[in-house]
Amino acid sequence: MAGSDDVVAEKGGERASDVIKTVMVVIAMQAEALPLVETLQLVEDEQATIFPKGAPWKKYSGDLDALNVHVVIPGKDKSLGVDSVGTVPASLLTYAAGVALQPDLIINAGTAGGFQAKGANIGDVYIATEFANHDRRIPIPVFDKYGVGTMEAIPAGKLIKDLKLKEGKLSTGNSLDMTLQDEEHIKANDATVKDMEGAALAYVADLLAIPLISLKAVTDIVDGNKPTVEEFLENMSMAASALSRTVPLVLKYVSGKSVADLSS
Ligand code: SAH
Repeated sequence: MAGSDDVVAEKGGERASDVIKTVMVVIAMQAEALPLVETLQLVEDEQATIFPKGAPWKKYSGDLDALNVHVVIPGKDKSLGVDSVGTVPASLLTYAAGVALQPDLIINAGTAGGFQAKGANIGDVYIATEFANHDRRIPIPVFDKYGVGTMEAIPAGKLIKDLKLKEGKLSTGNSLDMTLQDEEHIKANDATVKDMEGAALAYVADLLAIPLISLKAVTDIVDGNKPTVEEFLENMSMAASALSRTVPLVLKYVSGKSVADLSS
């Protein structure tokens, strides 16, 4: 194990000036991923020997320009058949696929709730500038900060400007709804968008020393007057098609560039 750890650390150190060649896109829900898989004409790797035997995880691969693109999804829960959303499946998948594929860049693409008080509208695609958790409350000095786990995104000012993306902080928790306590913490995190995976991806990407870009399409307005579940289901396919337009734009943009080229 020590040997493979060394390889990861060494590669991470080299990455900043390297041209991006391999990108891994991590998506929580199949319905969010399939329009993109179709747009990019990726092919499912039915064998996927990089995954544990019997895991519901899926990998779709192909090329876009000079890029090697892999889309990975945690698939359907083995007993309940619904998408394996949330931080645990997303973290395990990102770790295992990240170690196996050694991408130069990870993109987390998905949907999110947006705060209209912060300027979010349905269908907007946000790039996260910061990640934090809102449901890890540990009221002991220092552990409290660990719980929130704030992490900065990689500087990507040039990418944001050139592709006219909206930018905002992302707060993550394992619930789709929002309790009053969550709301308090989301406000403290100064978040514009709220999801169920982003901060976990940031943690794993940092662990593997692989740069991460998080793209979130807004399916529901959290501080609006429509019930979240209803609004989410109503806008899910529109958000998935927004992602299937934006993710290829980002992929084409990063192709032939280094991570350092993405900041202004
Ligand atoms: N009702 C859905 C369940 C989706 S769970 C279904 O029928 O399949 C929500 C997914 O969308 C998660 O992956 C999460 O990251 C994202 N998401 C969208 N809106 C969200 C919100 N308001 N809060 C938290 N996560 C949200």
